[in-house]
Amino acid sequence: MTKNKLRLAIVGAGPAGIYAADILLKAERNFDVSIDLFDRLPAPYGLVRYGVAPDHPRIKGIITALREVLDRGDIRIFGNVRFGEDLTLDDLKRHYNAVIFATGAVRDASLHIPGVELAGSYGAADFVSWFDGHPDVPRTWPLEAQQVAVIGNGNVALDSARMLAKHVEDLMPTEIPANVAEGLAASPVTDVHVFGRRGPTSVKFTPLELRELGELRDVEMIVYDEDFDYDDAARAAVAGNKQVFVIDKVLQQWRQRSVGEASRRLHLHFFAKPVALVDDGTGRVGAIRYERTAPDGQGGVVGTGEIRELPVQAVYRAVGYFGSPLPDVPFDEKFGVIPNHEGQVLTVDPETGDARQLYGVYATGWIKRGPVGLIGHTKSDAMETVGHLINDLGNWWNPEAPEEDAIVELLEARGIRWTDLDGWHRLDEHELALGAAEDRARIKVVPRADMVDISRGEV
Ligand SMILES: Cc1cc2nc3c(=O)[nH]c(=O)nc-3n(C[C@H](O)[C@H](O)[C@H](O)COP(=O)(O)OP(=O)(O)OC[C@H]3O[C@@H](n4cnc5c(N)ncnc54)[C@H](O)[C@@H]3O)c2cc1C
Repeated sequence: MTKNKLRLAIVGAGPAGIYAADILLKAERNFDVSIDLFDRLPAPYGLVRYGVAPDHPRIKGIITALREVLDRGDIRIFGNVRFGEDLTLDDLKRHYNAVIFATGAVRDASLHIPGVELAGSYGAADFVSWFDGHPDVPRTWPLEAQQVAVIGNGNVALDSARMLAKHVEDLMPTEIPANVAEGLAASPVTDVHVFGRRGPTSVKFTPLELRELGELRDVEMIVYDEDFDYDDAARAAVAGNKQVFVIDKVLQQWRQRSVGEASRRLHLHFFAKPVALVDDGTGRVGAIRYERTAPDGQGGVVGTGEIRELPVQAVYRAVGYFGSPLPDVPFDEKFGVIPNHEGQVLTVDPETGDARQLYGVYATGWIKRGPVGLIGHTKSDAMETVGHLINDLGNWWNPEAPEEDAIVELLEARGIRWTDLDGWHRLDEHELALGAAEDRARIKVVPRADMVDISRGEV
């Protein structure tokens, strides 16, 4: 085996995987590179396609930059191939010198409060997957509640609240799939309540996302005066942090607005820590119970013991995402990531805690560092990981069958209906044509089988 060529597998065609491929191809190095990019979905772009909200076309536009990387043609794509089922780590060792895992985080983090299992209690990640047309979630979503609670104070909470409160007519210019348009049109919602256990100056959402809520047609923003009795720490945060300053300014403006005209309302409750979901007597959510908190003087909060209840018929838990374990790959159960040192994957001895590098295996993106940060952060992540991969040349795997055809033969022998770059172009054009017929930019195809058939030209 010569080390003048790196055959690299990247698992996950989200931004982290695509940036890693791009950075490696452009990096200074003294060996050739050939990259195969695998994704379990028939379409690339990960959470940019299936997480970023459909009414954020500017962010969705990042797909154009990612697509330019793929369209150069120097990265092979294998969509609809799931690592752990269709391909194993042993397969990769047989055919490649190394693998980078860029599998992201798609699950909801757990929230441990009584009643969380009641009907009508949903993970926001599942709701996001539904409204963004993810093929692996049910087609229909039960939008039957008039009063809804959203737990969390990050951007995903605001995305969920906005998608619940927004009138469907205002989403029609976007790429929402037909089943999502139908579901949202039937929603009887009148009030969406967002709960954050901290104060307005400690939120995790960004000013742009917040301001946008105030511009929704026929939706009034309701904030409560009792939440604005700032202590010194909060005042210092407003004075010392530009982002907090803008958030405070937006909220203060909403305090002055007159309300009572719109058919829908979006309430922001701060210093409100959900403690239980209350059964309506039929096994469904009937109310949310929360404890009023108060500033602890150091920027945090403490419970006051004052318990309140608000009737709601559905609850969306937007308390963060969490990574999923991959077969034969180390996993940190506590943080939901692949244990690593700057992207070099580690095996950790459970007894002693000693960590050793697992040669040939790397991680990047959300599965490397946890589900925080914007798409841009996955680029710096990828640079760090790729830097180590290049320097580790002496420790790569020595594959038995590194020829490029070998992996194709393996997938064929296993009867896997993979999709490639041409296939993605076919699906892309199909979705654009569906949209054009209805004067919309794009309408996403949702069922996996249809995506695969269209991509493979088998319709
Ligand atoms: C709801 C939501 C809204 C967001 N909005 C914004 C925003 O407006 N602006 C912004 O900058 N950032 C936003 N983000 C953050 C952004 O999406 C992430 O920073 C980024 O997508 C992380 O990239 P990644 O490649 O690590 O993971 P992902 O984008 O999740 O990509 C991982 C890929 O791995 C694939 N995969 C997983 N498991 C396997 C397997 N076993 N085999 C094969 N493939 C697999 C997945 O199908 C996926 O394509 C948002 C995130 C969420 C959740």
